[in-house]
Amino acid sequence: MKTSLSAAIMITVMISLSACSLPKNELAVKADPAPVIGTSPAKADPPKAIPPKVSPPPKVNKPPQPAAGGTDDIQAVADPESDTVLINKQHMLPEGYLPAELVYPNVKFTFNEKIEKRMLRKEAADALEDLFSAASKDGLPLAGVSAYRSHERQKTLFEAYVRKDGEKKARTYSAYPGTSEHETGLAIDVTGADGKCSATDCFAGTPEAKWLAKHAHEYGFIIRYPEGKDSITGYKYEPWHLRYVGLKPAADIYDQDITLEEYVSAIEVSGKVH
Ligand SMILES: [Zn+2]
Repeated sequence: MKTSLSAAIMITVMISLSACSLPKNELAVKADPAPVIGTSPAKADPPKAIPPKVSPPPKVNKPPQPAAGGTDDIQAVADPESDTVLINKQHMLPEGYLPAELVYPNVKFTFNEKIEKRMLRKEAADALEDLFSAASKDGLPLAGVSAYRSHERQKTLFEAYVRKDGEKKARTYSAYPGTSEHETGLAIDVTGADGKCSATDCFAGTPEAKWLAKHAHEYGFIIRYPEGKDSITGYKYEPWHLRYVGLKPAADIYDQDITLEEYVSAIEVSGKVH
């Protein structure tokens, strides 16, 4: 157990310095129970003290009950069901959030099992089927890699990383529970149908990546972490990570060449829904 957990984490650390944080060997990590962060004894290494967090001055609208430790700088969103809900390193889903109506989109994935990471919210799943079908017609069949990830699953992963590396380091490569877009049921990592370059940098520049950058908005999706926008999104370029936001928002974001952060903040300023 000790060895497999360490190995799984090592592999993950090496391959997934990204928003998606996809462990290749998920089962090894999953087998571990999920104690509260900061209280579990370190298994592989000498116990590492997690440094006490210095709290910034309280903000208005701060979540009344932050999740297990270290969320002082993260606000819980008020509209988790919205297509344009903004989830990032500063904005998290409410504790225990479960998306409504998760379904299995009828598209190819890089695996066959009917498991959680194959699911999306219904509207995103319908739109994804149209997108995949259009890509196929253009000679570029796609495959899903990873879609929905439950809060529990993200928590289990994150806590395993914290036990291994301490919270500060874990946060540099894994999303804090509640702050992964995959928990919304509106995000999916995709790749070419051959399964090469699954959620890795080599997907950039492929015909499939170019097709997605040009056409995803026609189906209500955006490339959530565009190139050169990491100072805004908090994540490096991820041409494979699609986020469903709905047709009109996706078209606006595409036309204006902006991020979801900028789109949401423009709406807040103007006070309009559209
Ligand atoms: Zn992703």
